[in-house]
Amino acid sequence: MKDQNDWALETLAIRTGHKRTFEQEHSEAIFPTSSYVFSSAAEAAARFSGEVPGNIYSRLSNPTVRYFEERLAIMEGGESCVATASGMAAIMAVMIGLLKAGDHIVCSRSIFGTTTVFLNNFIGKFGVEISFVNLTDLNAWQAALKPNTRLLFAETPSNPLCDVVDIKALAKIAHQNNSLLVIDNCFCTPVLQQPLELGADIVVHSATKYLDGQGRCLGGAVIGDTETVGKEVFGVLRSGGVAMSPFNAWVFLKGLETLNLRMKAHSTSALALAQWLEQHSAIERVYFTGLVSHPQHTLVKQQQSDWGGIVSFEVKGGKEAAWRVIDHTHMISITANLGDAKTTITHPATTTHGRLTSEQRQEAGISDGLIRIAVGLENIEDIKVDLERGLNT
Ligand SMILES: *Cc1c(COP(=O)(O)O)cnc(C)c1O
Repeated sequence: MKDQNDWALETLAIRTGHKRTFEQEHSEAIFPTSSYVFSSAAEAAARFSGEVPGNIYSRLSNPTVRYFEERLAIMEGGESCVATASGMAAIMAVMIGLLKAGDHIVCSRSIFGTTTVFLNNFIGKFGVEISFVNLTDLNAWQAALKPNTRLLFAETPSNPLCDVVDIKALAKIAHQNNSLLVIDNCFCTPVLQQPLELGADIVVHSATKYLDGQGRCLGGAVIGDTETVGKEVFGVLRSGGVAMSPFNAWVFLKGLETLNLRMKAHSTSALALAQWLEQHSAIERVYFTGLVSHPQHTLVKQQQSDWGGIVSFEVKGGKEAAWRVIDHTHMISITANLGDAKTTITHPATTTHGRLTSEQRQEAGISDGLIRIAVGLENIEDIKVDLERGLNT
């Protein structure tokens, strides 16, 4: 589109990607079709050989999925985007597409639990060596590098303690070693943080979270350059089949249109909640990027345009007190999902981090009194009332 280069992010999120069909539809069309027809045997042959571009089969391309891919690529500032069936499918496609036996990767210790399981149990099985380091310790990242380190993988802010790494500095460390930096941008989305602009090579997403925004569909995406993502990662989808469904792509397209407003609202409410919790007598400590007490608060202000919606806090009294707060809520949903209009609450020590030993949990900073909240879009006063009940008993 001709004006695209001048548009701000919220305009790009609404106006890019869609190619209107001959029906002149205003809202993006859903194309629930598995295959596409050719006008002749010769045309079929030309499409299959790649001589003539065009749709063949929806594992390879689908118009609705392509609208989503083009829109998200533009928003993240990448040349190419590949949509996947889930966030884990995106991470799998990156690993399978870019790694081979004998390679080494360095990974933040505080990443999504299933990502750790996937790397240890499956990628490791194919002869890839994995080192885990503390997210914020740049010296540890540097020290873990080897000549065969193919990529570095991190999530920032981390889950659930909201630790933040300097993406620019980490990219520099990666590139000096000819390694790629992969950032899982699920918590921030391109509205709050654009890792490619900060020097990262690849961004992965669980679209299931904020890109959807209302907890409806599973999906994921990988964004980067044409060669690495458009060819190597796409190649895994083409043959491995973890493609996004056109219906889900349509839901995510609609989600992107309101992403800017939602991320700002999540951030504003999360800050208000964190400040309220920080002065509450029943609470030991609050972990939130927007608090001055956050150890990387200055870095957050440079690297992100707002705080994000995840607030974690430790209540006095350990597991019993934490469970009491959770069980006294009437409105907030007790679920481990996040990125929803509905506020969710979870006890990491007995759910998402329950499979770790107590020493591993201690090392990761997951205490028994820790609660994680993904602040939704309800009125902030209603959220406070719902939490106050269990904090005061
Ligand atoms: C949820 C999540 C994933 C996995 O995404 P799915 O869509 O559930 O497969 C990966 N990374 C982060 C940070 C997540 O929160």
